[in-house]
Amino acid sequence: MKDKMKKIVLAAAAVIGISSFAFSQERMKPEETEFYSPVPPIVTPGAHFGDAPSDAIVLFDGSNLSQWINSKDSTAAKWTLADNVMTVNKSIGDIQTRSSFTDYQLHIEYRIPSNITGSGQARGNSGIFLAALPWGPGGYELQVLDNFKNTTYVNGQVGSMYKQAVPLANASRKPGEWQTYDVVWTAPKWNDNGTLKSLARVTVIHNGVLVQNNVTLLGDTPYIGMPSYRKHGPAPIKLQSHGDKSEPISYRNIWLRPL
Ligand code: MG
Repeated sequence: MKDKMKKIVLAAAAVIGISSFAFSQERMKPEETEFYSPVPPIVTPGAHFGDAPSDAIVLFDGSNLSQWINSKDSTAAKWTLADNVMTVNKSIGDIQTRSSFTDYQLHIEYRIPSNITGSGQARGNSGIFLAALPWGPGGYELQVLDNFKNTTYVNGQVGSMYKQAVPLANASRKPGEWQTYDVVWTAPKWNDNGTLKSLARVTVIHNGVLVQNNVTLLGDTPYIGMPSYRKHGPAPIKLQSHGDKSEPISYRNIWLRPL
């Protein structure tokens, strides 16, 4: 009997709550929940999906490597440029942007060569360091690898934040086909006293498929050991020249919107 009474009281309270909410809703004017500022800036989208919008910083449009330098000595980037595509030069090593960035939206396209060989991590391995750092593993790596029919540890396959975040799906296209990454990068932030204010977060869409959904990183992405944070400011974006023996991969159509 007690339980029954309790249920009746709860039901009555719910009805009163709903009706008072509905009553206050009715008393509001539509204009009270409509805002006219701040006005979003006008951004003209690219002609086709993947094309740079009007406010993008174009990092590579196929014509030259002027926005890139060799990571090892900061001289002009010497990856191979042909047919509007840049290809890893393993004798040169990693390259990185001349400019540094904090939070951004990035579009980048890559192609694993159709004659790719090797297996596991030694098959089309490259990577995009979303903030390149001159210590430890070199920053926070979004893995590039051929996993079309190639298995490896899942936290190191394509679409992973290397050894830290397993992708939600394997959306790999065949070797020889162009593939896309669209990334939203929120850099870690520090307080003036050197303590961490907020952790890095990343969202990644691979070939139109969500593979990292606003994932929080625990630090950088080392090959050996645990991730860690060390204070840094705006940083370049770095493309990896991996030391394995498989054929080098290519990049094209790279642009970014600072956020
Ligand atoms: Mg890699």
